Formats: sequence, structure tokens, C-alpha cells
Amino acid sequence: MSRLARVHFKYEDHMGLNKAFCCILTGICLVMLAGARVGFPAANASSDPFQRERNRMVREQIQGRGVDDPATLNAMRRVPRHLYVPVSQRRFAYQDRPLPIGYGQTISQPFMVAYMTQIINPRPDHRVLEIGTGSGYQAAILAEIIDGVYTIEIVSELGQQARRKLEAQYDNVHVKIADGYHGWEEHAPFDAIVVTAASEYIPPPLIRQLREGGRMIIPVGSPYQMQQLMLVEKKEGGDITTRSLMPVRFVPFERAE
Ligand code: SAH
Repeated sequence: MSRLARVHFKYEDHMGLNKAFCCILTGICLVMLAGARVGFPAANASSDPFQRERNRMVREQIQGRGVDDPATLNAMRRVPRHLYVPVSQRRFAYQDRPLPIGYGQTISQPFMVAYMTQIINPRPDHRVLEIGTGSGYQAAILAEIIDGVYTIEIVSELGQQARRKLEAQYDNVHVKIADGYHGWEEHAPFDAIVVTAASEYIPPPLIRQLREGGRMIIPVGSPYQMQQLMLVEKKEGGDITTRSLMPVRFVPFERAE
């Protein structure tokens, strides 16, 4: 074979490889396009089929209503809300409303969870107390951002269920089954307290367990009526200020007999 022929042959061979490479690439593109058409996640989405719904929930229901704290938004995009609702409610998990979780209780509307998270100014080095674990969803959102999450639930079945889910996912969440009225003295003071059941008044033990400079968010008012979502702040030196944020409707704050 002449030198020229050899060079020519090499060139042909190279073209062959290129063609094969192009075919593979085209194949991959076609598969991705087909996936997109039947509603698979786009190229760089996670393998969770609910990721798209979650992104839309954050965009439309949460950012659309003014929540803009990046840590809160990221947590809301990450936590699989559908795993915190009963199987029968799963297809509604990303809708703009609370959902029943059994025992007469509800998981709060996604916006409310995000709003209550943002308003306490969550930081990684914080310790937060939640009263009303319920499904465990709000605790999971907090655990994505904050190192120490303490949550109390009065209905023991709900508390146990939430504990199992939360412990499988996080090592910074502690669940206690008790009447949250008394707070969690051993771990006080808390940088923030999130109460997710409506109380006629702010339980004094919770005020005591709030750190100076800390914030509590709590729905205050009569059960089964509209309540006011209140922001309670303990100033340096211990003075308390309260501010009404918006009318809300939460399940009642129960008391242990
Ligand atoms: N944060 C929850 C919302 C649950 S609804 C979530 O993300 O799903 C409020 C919860 O508060 C209910 O589960 C109810 O059982 C609980 N609860 C009511 N009174 C309570 C009390 N005194 N102590 C602790 N939990 C209480």
C-alpha cells in the first residue's frame, strides 16, 4: 500500500468512528426527546417524578406570594411532600391546600409551611422547637436548614409515624410525644419556636423557653374559627413584642387530660 493509500485508509477509518459516535449521540437525543414528550423529567432533573410538581409548587404558590429566602425555597424544593401524606392523598400533595393526615389533623398548606419557616429567620446553628409534629413535613423542612430540630406531637400514633420517617432521613430531628404546652425544658432556650396548632393564648412555658433575640410564630384564637398568625419576639433583656401577620385557620391546640 502506498503512503497515500495508507493515509487515505486511516482517514476513512476515522470517519467510520465519527459516524458511529454521531449515531449514538442521535440515539441518546431521540430517547431524551421521547422521554420529555411523555412527561419524564427533563435531562438534568432528579429521578423523583414529583420534582417538577415541587418546582412548580415553589414557583407559583410560594415565590409567587413573596417568600424569597433561598434556604427556605431550596428546602421546599427538596423535601418530598408526597411521602408525608397518606397514600390516598398523594396525588394532591403539591396542591395549594392543607390535606387530611388522619386523627382529625392536617398537614398545612405548602405556602404556610414556607412562610412560617422564613419568618423565624432560620440559620444552621439554630435550635428550633416545633409544637405539632403531625405528618413531620414542617419538621423535615426545618431539618434541611437547621442543625437542631425538636418537635412535639400530642397524638402518639402521628408522633410515632413521623418519628420513623424523620429518623430515616435526618439525624438532627428529635421527636417527643407529649403535650407541647410545656415545651421541651431540657433543650431550651430555643432560637425559634414554631407552633402549628391554634391556641387561645400563647403558652407561658413557650415564652420562657424562647431565647432572647428569638422568634416564635403561633396561630392565636378560638378553635374552629379564623385565628391570627402572630409573630412573638423576645428582645434582648426579655421584653416581648407581638405582631399580627395574617388571618389563618389551624387545627386546635389540644391539652393532655
Ligand atoms: N406541622 C404539621 C402540622 C400538623 S397539624 C405538619 O407539618 O404536618 C397540628 C398538629 O398539632 C396535629 O398533629 C395535632 O395533633 C398537634 N397538636 C395539637 N395540640 C398539641 C399539643 N398540645 N402538643 C403537641 N401537639 C399538638
